[in-house]
Order: sequence, then C-alpha cells, then structure tokens
Amino acid sequence: MAAQETVDHKYVYDFAEGNKDLKDLLGGKGANLAEMTNLGLPVPPGFTITTEACKAYLATGREPDGLADQIAAHLDALERGMGRRLGDPDDPLLVSVRSGAKFSMPGMMETVLNVGLNDRSVVGLSAQAGGNDRFAWDSYRRLIQMFGKTVCDVPGEEFEHALDEAKRAKGTTNDLDLDADDLRGLVDAYKKIFAKHTGREFPQEPREQLDLAVRAVFESWNAERAIVYRRQERIPADLGTAVNVVAMVFGNLGPDSGTGVAFTRDPASGAQGIYGDYLANAQGEDVVAGIRNTVPLQELERIDKTSYDELLDYMARLEEHYRDLCDIEFTIERGKLWMLQTRVGKRTAAAAFVIAGQLVDEGLIELDEALHRVNGAQLAQLMFPRFRLDHEFEPVAKGVGASPGAASGKVVFSSDRAVELAAEGESVILVRRETNPDDLNGMIAAKGILTSRGGKTSHAAVVARGMGKTCVSGADELDVNVPQRRFTVAGKTVTEGDVISIDGTTGKVYLGEVPVMPSEVVQYFEGTLDAEQSDDPLVRAVHRIMTHADQRRRLAVRTNADTAEDAARARRFGAGGIGLCRTEHMFLGDRRELVERLILARSDEERDAALGALLPLQRADFVDIFKAMDGLPVTVRLIDPPLHEFLPPLEQLAVNVAVAQERGEDVAKEEALLAAVRRMHEENPMLGLRGVRLGLVIPGLFAMQVRAIAEAAVAVVRDGGSAFPEIMVPLVGAVQELETVRAEAEKIIAEVVGDSGVEVLIGTMIEVPRAALTAGQIAEAAEFFSFGTNDLTQMGWGFSRDDVEAAFFWRYLELGIFGISPFESIDAEGVGRLVRIAAEEGRAARPGLKLGVCGEHGGDPDSVHFFHSVGLDYVSCSPFRVPVARLEAGRAAIETAGSDSR
Ligand code: ADP
Ligand code: MG
Ligand code: MG
Repeated sequence: MAAQETVDHKYVYDFAEGNKDLKDLLGGKGANLAEMTNLGLPVPPGFTITTEACKAYLATGREPDGLADQIAAHLDALERGMGRRLGDPDDPLLVSVRSGAKFSMPGMMETVLNVGLNDRSVVGLSAQAGGNDRFAWDSYRRLIQMFGKTVCDVPGEEFEHALDEAKRAKGTTNDLDLDADDLRGLVDAYKKIFAKHTGREFPQEPREQLDLAVRAVFESWNAERAIVYRRQERIPADLGTAVNVVAMVFGNLGPDSGTGVAFTRDPASGAQGIYGDYLANAQGEDVVAGIRNTVPLQELERIDKTSYDELLDYMARLEEHYRDLCDIEFTIERGKLWMLQTRVGKRTAAAAFVIAGQLVDEGLIELDEALHRVNGAQLAQLMFPRFRLDHEFEPVAKGVGASPGAASGKVVFSSDRAVELAAEGESVILVRRETNPDDLNGMIAAKGILTSRGGKTSHAAVVARGMGKTCVSGADELDVNVPQRRFTVAGKTVTEGDVISIDGTTGKVYLGEVPVMPSEVVQYFEGTLDAEQSDDPLVRAVHRIMTHADQRRRLAVRTNADTAEDAARARRFGAGGIGLCRTEHMFLGDRRELVERLILARSDEERDAALGALLPLQRADFVDIFKAMDGLPVTVRLIDPPLHEFLPPLEQLAVNVAVAQERGEDVAKEEALLAAVRRMHEENPMLGLRGVRLGLVIPGLFAMQVRAIAEAAVAVVRDGGSAFPEIMVPLVGAVQELETVRAEAEKIIAEVVGDSGVEVLIGTMIEVPRAALTAGQIAEAAEFFSFGTNDLTQMGWGFSRDDVEAAFFWRYLELGIFGISPFESIDAEGVGRLVRIAAEEGRAARPGLKLGVCGEHGGDPDSVHFFHSVGLDYVSCSPFRVPVARLEAGRAAIETAGSDSR
C-alpha cells in the first residue's frame, strides 16, 4: 500500500486502490490494471498518476504541488514491495511509463519502457538475468531509443539508421543476430545521437528519467496525431491522460519468454474462440508495431502449455467479469505469465451485434443492454454494399481480414497523397508495409487500408476497426516499395493511381474494381433473407436487436420519399409512413414545358390552362405514392423552391437567343424566357420568393396541388385502399400565411372528398425561426408541425449551407466552435432550443398537435436522441437511414427509461 499522503489532493493511486469505474481519473488502462490486480490476476505492481495531474500540468506548464512527493512515496512503496530500487546498479528495478486516457487511443500517445537503466544498472540487469548481457544491452538501447524519441523529440529514423548500420556491419537483417558487444556499440551510437539532438548527455539519474517520461506522457495528450484522432473519434479534448508506472517484466529474455495480444472473441466477426497473436522472445512494443511477424495465439499451447492454460483461464474470468469482449496484452517472462493490460475491446460493427446477441444467449446481459451496446453508426456500416464475386475476379493476395467492408480505389503509398487525392474526390486505398500513428490523416482520407505486414492487432488493424474503415493487413505476398510508389504481387506491378479492391472480411485483394451487391443485412431488411431461417449469426442478431428496438421505441420513424419506389423500399426497411414527400420533381422532366407556360402566362386563362395540364399528372404521382404507403400517413410538402429554378440558366438562354438570332430564327419564346429569368433573379434565393410565399403570389398553384392530393386520396380509397394525406406548407413564418393557404385548401378538400371518408390534415413546416418563436399562434392553424431542421439551422445560424461548409467549417471545427457540423448533428443548444420552444408552445396551444422532423437530422443518431428527449412523435429520414433511426429511437427510449445497467 502507498504511504500516507501528506497533501490533501491525491494525484497518485496504487493499483490496489483503483477499480474499473475510475476511468475518468485513472484512465482506461489504469482503472483496468487496478481491476485485474483486485481480481487477483498477476499484474506487475505499479501505480497510476491521475488525469487531474495531467490537466493541471497542461494548464500551468508545471507539475502540480505535491505530485513529486506523492510519486516518491508510491515509488518507495513499489521498491519495497519488489525488493529492488529503481535503477540500482546491482539489482535494478525498471519501470514502464505508460499513457492511458479515459478512452482508448491506440498508439496515439507515448509509452517508455525500461526506465531506470543507465551505464551502471545495465550491468546489474545482466546479473539479474543470469549474466545475459545481450538482453541487458538490448533493453538499454531500447530505452535510449524510446526515451530519445518520445521524451526529447529525437527523430526516430536516426536510431533506426544506426540499428540498420549495426546489422549491416554484422552482415544480417535480423535484430536477434546482434550480440551483446554489437548492442553495447549501438548504445554508444544512440547516446551520441541523443547528445547531438538534445545538447545534453542521456540522463543517468533514474528518478530524472522517470520524471521526464511522466512529463512527456502528459504532453503527448496534445500531440498532433492525438488531436486528429480525438477529433475523428469525437473524444473531448480536455480529458487529459493518466500515467501508469509499472514494474517491468521481460518477454525478451529468451525462447521461454514472449509477448502477445489476445481477444476473448473474434473482434472482426464476434465468433467465439481464441484470437490473438504471439511473438516469442520480444517486448510488447514489437507486436503492436507489427514489426516482426507473429504466430497465432493457439501456437502458444505448443510452446508453453502451462502459461497458455493459465491465460485461457484469465480470459474466461475477465469476460465473465466485464460481461463483454475483452482484449488483453500479456507477457511471459521465463515461463511466468504477466497480465499487462485489458479493456473492453474494440470490435467491428458486425462483431458488436453478434457479441451482444451471444451475451444475451449466455445470460450475461439483458436485451436492453444488448440494444445499448450497439449503435446506428455500426448498423449503417453493415448496410454498405459488398463485393459481388460471381465472376472473373481472382484474388492476387490474401491477408488478414482486419476490418470488414468492400473498398475499391486508387492505390497511394503515403498519407499526404491519400489526403490530396481524397480532397479531389477520388477513392483511394492506402498501401503501406505497416502503418504508424503518423499515417492517421491518410487513413482517415482513404476508403481502405492495405498492409503487407502485421496481424489483427497491428496498428493498421486496430485503428481501422476503430474508424469502421475497411482494412486488410499482413498481405505478405505483396512486396511494397514505398519510395518508388509501387508494389508487386503475383508477378504484377501496381503503381500509384492503379485501381485495386480489398475485402476486409475475407482479407482478399483484387486488381481492378470489383462490382458490389447489397450486404446480408440489407437483404434482410429488404425481406429477401429470412432471419429466422438464416444461419448467419449476424442477421439473426440484427433481427433480434431491431425487434427489441421497435418494441422499446416511442418515436415513430417515417421516411423522406418522393417516389413510389423509394416509398416501397423505405416501407420494407420499417418506415411507418412518409414524413416528407417533396413535390419539386413533379414539375420536372417533360413537365418543364408546362412550368414555362405557367411562368410566361400573360392571362389568367393561360395560367389556369398550364395548371390544369399539371393536375392529372401530379394526381397520378400521388396515387402511386399513396398506394405504396397504403394504410400509412403521407406528408406532402407543397412546392418549395423558387420557380426560376425550373428555368434554364441565364447564360444558356442568352446563348440560345444569340444563336437563334444569328440564324434568323424566331426568338420570341427564348426572349420571353430570358426576360423572365432576368426579372425573377434573386440575390438570395434561399431567402426569396419560395415556399408559402409562392403559394400566396401565384394564384392557383397551391390549389392545384391540394386538389391533386385530395383527388388522389379519394381515388385510392374508392379503389379499396386507404390513404392518410397530410398537406404541409413550407417556409411559414406567420400564422396569417398559413391561415390564408388553409382557407383556400379547406374549400377544395371539402369539395373533393365529399362523403368518401378521406381525411386530409393541414400542417406546416417549422423552419423559419419566427415560426418557432410564434408556434403558439401558428398551432391554431396547424394540425401538425414538421421541423425542417436544415433550413432552421441555416436561418438560425445565418449560414448559407452551400457556401459555408467548404468556406470555413474546417476552421470552426478546428477552433472547437462546434464539434461537428450543425448540419450533420443538430445543434441542441441553439437550433434545438427553437425546436423545444415550438414543441412546447405548439402543444400548449393545441394539445395533441402532431410533431415530427423531416430534415436530414432525422437519420442522425445523436439528433434522434435529442428529438426523443423533446417529445416529438416521429422522425423522418432517407430510406437507408430508416433502420438506423429505428435502432437509435429504441436506444433513446431505454436510456431515458434509466434501464442502462452498464
Ligand atoms: P499502448 O497503449 O500503445 O498499447 P502500452 O502502455 O500498453 O501502450 O505499452 C506498449 C507496449 O509495452 C505494450 O505491448 C505493453 O504490453 C508493453 N509494456 C508496457 N508496460 C510493460 C511492463 N511493465 N513490462 C513489460 N512490457 C510492458
Ligand atoms: Mg497497450
Ligand atoms: Mg426547407
């Protein structure tokens, strides 16, 4: 146990003092090391410096008061427990100094191993290891290398060059061929490199090494790559990292030692079994870095059966304890197993569903918990298409299916090039021997990642899985030559810009672009694959969890669909109606001619004739849509965009007129159109003559649409179907606008529906801030509100979406003005407040007022949770997002019900 603290603020916790629920304070690694310690698993002793200490350091640039003393006290206790002193020349204790934040950020921050070695203790270490000089000097050179690179910013290549040089001098390419003398020489070379770059000698004082390493770990929280990773993963920037100081154990003491990584289930598929990689005679960093090729964990049974059995036992205990997939880092030192890390493991989207289903079967968790553990982003991934492999395509290589998906794109060999080409809209596949944390930007930009080395636990694999990006790792038939930007495989050379396809499920690599087909999960949603009959564990798990989500959710999910085909598909995907049927397309195609006549009409008769010609066409469109949604509500939005959008562009008309005049043709109509376009030009079309304003200005336009809708509904009902039309008026800002439209519409509806029994609701979009703020009045004239959150966001922020996203959103994201574009996920504080006000005041004025949302936010997971919390009745989103919204609506319901048992 730690010595009594002398200051009131506790910055350091012994492993025995923590537990898995203290992730905020101890970071994930520290909290779980403590948990394993308390479970009685063999964890090397150590202590954790809290994230609070890190935050204090980052805020002030110096260690907080009391930290140094607390570290001294815990170090003292550690030394006494181990019977060794840090860096003792005769019998040294060595420690690792490891980063570990609340959320795992694989490889993003720093860790330094072998702290405590110096020119004298290296001799003591050798003695400890039974006179193993080679081991001692290898450990020392690793310390100088890691310490130099991470603590003092010495360029890592310098050390690598020196290592290559030593191997060349020895005539070998294998580290293991270097003997003690070679390594002693290498240590000298490393020290010179260190001194050249830092202007000082490599620090010999063990406590100074420790303090500098701790500080470097603190600072690594703000390393560029860590910042990029956090932004990508939406991890808050102000959490800080904890630092774990852990007694070293050695996997590099000989063939009876080694190090490995294990998963309690397959993190790619979720299948039960033993998954992992093992590397004999190595320190842990070698596995994670994918530097040397590992063997499958199963082979450990042959190499060291006792340790293997013990490991399996711990894996079972950890899984039972955490009730989830765990991943584990371990090291074997001369036949003795040590557990160095565990956490609830990252997994692919498919594995998340499969494992959640399995754990329910195994009685470890309830269905609510299973629903809680998956999410809409994962489901969306499972709906990506897969390769269709029924013809010609033969794989040229097979690696490890490290992160599933089907990706085709142009080959690139560097992160920068990936970013460049992706910015030009190209799909790229980043090909490397192995990736390292500096490749992060390229990995984000790429459609997929292909490496020739490393297993399921290599950097590329872990990071790609975290990002949900397709990845094939360890395709060792590939000979990758990064400087020359090409690789060769099966006698073929692939150069930068050539197209390849990779399958992250099977690990197969194809030349050229392989065609794709719908995924199993989409086939299930489409109804072409029956979950109850299927033996695909993924389809069964998705079915089970979706069914539960549907039972639990309070929000209905509708779809945005403008055509009968989209409506039918969305219905198969579980949509409970249409929340937004845009009518713009009903004025396009060969109907443009009629719109032109409408715009150019010089008399009421001409205008009415054009509208009269449009009426039966639109009625037929509505009949199809109502039939596709038979029995379900269909919200139809009256025409919204400015009419000039239906005319040809000004430049084109000007050219047409000029050309026709040149040829001496009759240009009367072109000239009239040109004049109309000039007359109708708007500086800010988004804020101009559109929506309800059009309906009030152009006589008969809305009336024609209302009539088409009502007549279509009556026709469907007369045919034995049922139709529930809801007419939605766009861009209303004042109740008077809506009242005017309603008065005219009600007359038409009454006249058309007669005694058919058809009921037509009339409501409005809430998308102008003024409408939200006067919702109480507007509700008097509306039977429903549908929040148009795209426009509400544009007008709430004063952003023109088409302009601002490219112009400056990157900067806003960089500055943290928002964490995500408000067009992607609703700005709950600002725009969301308008929604909340309108919902409350609207319902106060008209109890039972139906409330929905039809912006793109309707399919965004976080926004769905927000809309649930505001008490809306439904969200509406594009057909492919419907399952995502169903799932998230279910999750929102259980989370607010407080049944979250995690
Ligand atoms: P990361 O978070 O990047 O995985 P870790 O802190 O886990 O970094 O450390 C990197 C590697 O060093 C891991 O493989 C780990 O198992 C190994 N390692 C860390 N501490 C020790 C230790 N005390 N003894 C032996 N190996 C260690
Ligand atoms: Mg680790
Ligand atoms: Mg709008």
